[in-house]
Amino acid sequence: HHGWIEVVVGPMYSGKSEELIRRMRRAQIAKQKIQVFKPAIDNRYSVDYVVSHNGEKIQGICISSSEEILELLDEDTEVIGIDEVQFLDEDVVHICRDLANKGLRVVAAGLDMDFRAEPFGPTPKLLAIAEFVDKITAVCMECGNPANRTQRLIDGKPAKYDEPTILVGATESYEARCRLHHDVPRD
Ligand code: ADP
Repeated sequence: HHGWIEVVVGPMYSGKSEELIRRMRRAQIAKQKIQVFKPAIDNRYSVDYVVSHNGEKIQGICISSSEEILELLDEDTEVIGIDEVQFLDEDVVHICRDLANKGLRVVAAGLDMDFRAEPFGPTPKLLAIAEFVDKITAVCMECGNPANRTQRLIDGKPAKYDEPTILVGATESYEARCRLHHDVPRD
């Protein structure tokens, strides 16, 4: 008996967390033992919630490195969920592979692209090794077409290419945008 890897990717607001929560709930209904993990910067080992933009939530364990998935994994867990997988280190790729080899179902959700529309963290490698991939879209805030990109805005203006991928405490906001309306100025 082997497991497998499922990956759910898309821009912000595409419903990745919603979909992760839906899959984990259905596993619970089938009486499978689940554990959900999410990256945290400061609250190590604390229990928190994975919350979707439409208000759904499920309990999740905050981890500061992907190694902690192995440390905190219960022996009887059958399905693991990982949200915001793009923020974890590259080790998450072989950890997911090993868990799937051992018989677990691994559901990972996260951003496939950063605000520049470039591949984000470990997500591309996870997409490559997954059995099942869902690339989902949001609604473009400019035109209503399917949006597969995340627009970063700083004080309402498109963020420049050279800005860091992860901003701390800035007055930034994000919008889902299509290819046409996604803007990353370079100087
Ligand atoms: P993600 O995890 O991909 O950021 P969530 O699951 O947290 O997405 O949120 C999805 C929800 O976001 C949608 O059900 C909807 O209520 C809301 N939403 C807000 N803005 C948009 C948008 N531009 N397109 C689609 N959904 C949006």
